[in-house]
Amino acid sequence: MKITGKTRVLGIIGWPVTHSLSPVMHNAAFEYLGLDFCYVPFSVKEGCLDLAIRSIYALNIMGINVTIPHKESVVPYLSEISKEARIIGAVNTIKVVDDKLIGYNTDGIGFTTSLEEAGHPVGGRSLLILGGGGSAKAVVFQSAAEGAREIIIANRTVDKASLLRRQTETHFPSTRVDAIGVGYEELKGVIDRVDIVVNTTSIGLRIEDPSPVPKELLHQGLFICDLIYNPSETALTRYTKELGCQFINGIGMLLHQGGAAFKLWTDVEPPLEVMRKALEEAIGSLNGYKQAR
Ligand code: NAP
Repeated sequence: MKITGKTRVLGIIGWPVTHSLSPVMHNAAFEYLGLDFCYVPFSVKEGCLDLAIRSIYALNIMGINVTIPHKESVVPYLSEISKEARIIGAVNTIKVVDDKLIGYNTDGIGFTTSLEEAGHPVGGRSLLILGGGGSAKAVVFQSAAEGAREIIIANRTVDKASLLRRQTETHFPSTRVDAIGVGYEELKGVIDRVDIVVNTTSIGLRIEDPSPVPKELLHQGLFICDLIYNPSETALTRYTKELGCQFINGIGMLLHQGGAAFKLWTDVEPPLEVMRKALEEAIGSLNGYKQAR
């Protein structure tokens, strides 16, 4: 990559941000398309968000991704936010238009596109969503927006699942929504009637983590998505493989949320296969990644 006086800068703000794979993915796309852009990680601590946002104007930055812990706290700084970001209450992509900062959230569309790509669109389906945090919100709202028939939210803190259920019912009254805990009997009571199970919890991030669903509750009729992509294999995806169920990990969601952000910034179709290969190589060099799709 050649940086010139004309190179336009994009990037990601978060803390920590050193683990982010977005620079690898976007820079591979810019290089492939011969675009004079570069994408940089910016480590922004919690108390520094205000300064960081003002720097977007000051440094003539073209667009920014936002990650933990700023996805929600960034909202008041923006001139406008898209409908999906408003409903989710969080922004992962900012586009600079003239002197305005416009916020979007591409996590949900990244999720549903990855399922569609795997041959399992969410429309008309029943989903069991494990977890009730930030990623669950994006997954639940986008699935409801795309016509999921039923969504069951199972979270350790049931109050959070119930709040997300009420919010979903308000915005998407035609989807049936339930909120339950993560106990064995509660999961057993619903798993036979769902088509798709999605792990949005952080269980699985550590190699030694158990599966968020006991193996004996899984069955061949399920399509499983684990949002975790590093490690590429979790206890959940290992069991899924052993049982012969179809599954994907979170690399597709990461790719497609990035592709949607790329399109917003550049108005150019993202070279998805180039971006996917860059991600797979980066994950592979981190921990001997074996593709799980
Ligand atoms: P978050 O807002 O912190 O939510 C974490 C969720 O995990 C909460 O529902 C929490 O339950 C649950 N949880 C954590 N430890 C648990 C335990 N020991 N037992 C039961 N439940 C537990 O995090 P997030 O931003 O949603 O991210 C969650 C996961 O999704 C992470 O692994 C992240 O890497 C992945 N992710 C992937 C992508 C992608 O592009 N593939 C995008 C975003 C996130 P409580 O509410 O009870 O605390």
